[in-house]
Amino acid sequence: MHVEKRELVIIGAGPAGMTAAIYGRRAGLDVLVLEKGIPGGQINTTDEIENWPGVLMATGPELGEAFRKHAEKFNTEFRSASVERLELREGTKVVVTDQGEIEAEAILLATGASFRKLGCPGEAELTGKGVSYCAVCDGAFFEDEVVAVIGGGNTAVEEAVYLTQFASKVYIIHRRDEFRADRAAIDHALSNPKIEPIYNSVVESIEGDGLVEKLILKNVKSGETSDLDVAGVFVFVGTVPNDDSFKGFVKTTKGGWIDTNLRMETSVEGVFAAGDVREKFLRQVVTAAGDGAVAAMSAYGYISQQQHLRHKLLEPQEVFALFYSSIDEKHAHLTGEVENWMEGKDARIVLIDAYKNAGVAQKMGVSELPALLHLRKGSEVARKKCQSLEDVTAQIG
Ligand SMILES: Cc1cc2nc3c(=O)[nH]c(=O)nc-3n(C[C@H](O)[C@H](O)[C@H](O)COP(=O)(O)OP(=O)(O)OC[C@H]3O[C@@H](n4cnc5c(N)ncnc54)[C@H](O)[C@@H]3O)c2cc1C
Repeated sequence: MHVEKRELVIIGAGPAGMTAAIYGRRAGLDVLVLEKGIPGGQINTTDEIENWPGVLMATGPELGEAFRKHAEKFNTEFRSASVERLELREGTKVVVTDQGEIEAEAILLATGASFRKLGCPGEAELTGKGVSYCAVCDGAFFEDEVVAVIGGGNTAVEEAVYLTQFASKVYIIHRRDEFRADRAAIDHALSNPKIEPIYNSVVESIEGDGLVEKLILKNVKSGETSDLDVAGVFVFVGTVPNDDSFKGFVKTTKGGWIDTNLRMETSVEGVFAAGDVREKFLRQVVTAAGDGAVAAMSAYGYISQQQHLRHKLLEPQEVFALFYSSIDEKHAHLTGEVENWMEGKDARIVLIDAYKNAGVAQKMGVSELPALLHLRKGSEVARKKCQSLEDVTAQIG
């Protein structure tokens, strides 16, 4: 059976995935981007992006489209597919999608995040019937109606302002006594006569006969409950990682966010993560794009290392490999002697700088340097710690 093999498979075409695609393609990688929805990701659901540097103001879909076109300019292949799970089959990384399987040299998880649900009675039943998580998608259905926004962060406050274009009144219901959003966003919202904040309150339930009619609110300070008549509820109470397809595959933090290091490496070698799906301080377009760039370059380094390992060490019928460290003067001297000795001879010794190719050295189990490995078709025949040219040539015979 033919199995598709790709160098870098990026899961998710949001700002992180598309930036990674641009960097990956420019570095010469074979890149495939898998997206189950519309390229652009979460920004497709907002009407106003005004903190992407260099663009004073754009709608989310405009910015998403610009990212996609930029990635396509470098011949990135996009495929409409939903990733179901990831597997490691004898060390090979396999991406299982609803469109088939792909073997990947490296994988980038850029699946972003989704809205957190309130979890109160009525929410699930009335979703799409007045309960929404996207003001841009559904705001226009509430012309001259009263709606409520739940939340107190930037998204809640900004989307409430957006909704005033349509609604006659917008309540912002927040569990604390002040919003968490930026000062500028709060001032902008509170200066709008259509917006009224309701502090210290949570939604006990959402009620209505087929369509949302009212909220039952509870004041967290007094414990009192009250009714609030609304036709729509927009929920913006934070996000959760989109990790269904790789739960348990990579290490995550308490909230389920993927744990990465500064190179965007996850706990699984050759699997990287970027953007909102990883544990981080600020989830925004600009930080997702930054992560994507770092992840792509890390993946490039990883893939190059793997190819080096295969072509020079594992594929040849017979090979000797001298692992050394370029930051050690004695090692540098030894490799110079070895290179001189090889001139005009048939003997081939592959020199591997274990300092720059730590992953390769680790994979071959080389910790003591310099070391000469004798390999046949990738299998180790012998290994010797070599201090001098004589040690090396004695092994080669
Ligand atoms: C309403 C709203 C307003 C916002 N406003 C701003 C703003 O003004 N400025 C700002 O900087 N940020 C804003 N943000 C935040 C910003 O959108 C995110 O930080 C950013 O989109 C994260 O990018 P990402 O690439 O990590 O993930 P996402 O944008 O979430 O993209 C992930 C992509 O992965 C895809 N995917 C998920 N699972 C799978 C799977 N199994 N198979 C295939 N594909 C999959 C998804 O369909 C999605 O397209 C806003 C967010 C929202 C929701």
